Amino acid sequence: MSRHDGQYTIATLGSHSALQILKGAHDEGFPTLAIANRETERLYRSFKFVDEVIAIERYQDFPSIVDRLEERKIIVVPHGSFVAYLSLDDHKKMRIPYFGNKAVLDWEASRELQRQWLSRANLTLPRQFKSGTEIDRPVIVKLYGAQGGKGYMFIRDAQDFETRAAHLKQQYVIQEYIIGVPLYIHYFYSPLEDQLEIMSMDRRYETNVDSLGRIPAAAQEGMDVSPSYVVVGNSPVSLRESMLAETYRMGEDVVRVSKEICGPKGLFGAFCIETIITPDMQFYVMEISARIVAGTNLFIDGSPYSYLNYSEPMSTGRRIARELKNALFSNNLRLVLDDSSVL
Ligand code: ATP
Repeated sequence: MSRHDGQYTIATLGSHSALQILKGAHDEGFPTLAIANRETERLYRSFKFVDEVIAIERYQDFPSIVDRLEERKIIVVPHGSFVAYLSLDDHKKMRIPYFGNKAVLDWEASRELQRQWLSRANLTLPRQFKSGTEIDRPVIVKLYGAQGGKGYMFIRDAQDFETRAAHLKQQYVIQEYIIGVPLYIHYFYSPLEDQLEIMSMDRRYETNVDSLGRIPAAAQEGMDVSPSYVVVGNSPVSLRESMLAETYRMGEDVVRVSKEICGPKGLFGAFCIETIITPDMQFYVMEISARIVAGTNLFIDGSPYSYLNYSEPMSTGRRIARELKNALFSNNLRLVLDDSSVL
């Protein structure tokens, strides 16, 4: 594709993984647009691969410029901040060509539906408890709407729950506490090629839970310190190769089931399965994110896995743009856009 030849502009909100998405789009020959706010405007303008910046007061005001964007040849690539700032309704009302299947959003947003989806894909999920009295093992209490693990509580037993969590006003789920290594697997499913790829993997670095192991258990006794799960960063991981086949199987089954529950297009593009691996090599799945996740920002230059497939730097953001480019070249754009997209 020659640069800026009247083709589609790739646009996204200026936060989360916008730099990766727009760099990838630029490298694949698309013009790029960042929708920034007053604070981030200067930052996004400073990157040479960002061709245009539209600044709005607050990200929540995005719906106010949708009309303007709908008049142009634009494709929106959503990321975590879209879900954080725009309601499901805002998403569904939007007619701008949208990379992804919006029907997946309902299955992702409801913890109940998400569990059904993942169970049908034969993934192992931590046990969930309906009330404090049922608790018969260590659990984690997860507040609804918490971001980045904020406010999560490790609870030892039913008694501990009664003292520390029973009074909580917010909605929460009580989940079996899985002791193991957290591994976040980043996938890309290409509807054009009907092919799943493992793009990269990361583990999060969380304060203070990842530091507790540095203090011997005996010394912790009486210290009155409880673990917290606030994410401060991500580090890259390459997995034991003998475990890769199971990660691939999990990704394939999640895509397969999505085609049964979210319409024939199912889940496509980037997604992430968040797991904890126990000493018996079992992957317990905490959650699925049905789009590009921030952990992929570690791999703007590609990962060991994407290198195996591409032999050139291939971030998830760039892979998205490559899919859009391939779709345009083969006259299949509709296959990689939500059905609400007006072209
Ligand atoms: P985000 O939306 O940013 O992905 P979140 O608020 O949904 O984050 P989770 O990813 O569900 O949070 O969990 C945050 C952290 O809490 C995990 O990285 C993990 O360390 C811990 N955690 C969550 N569920 C469990 C569990 N069942 N057992 C043990 N630890 C858990």
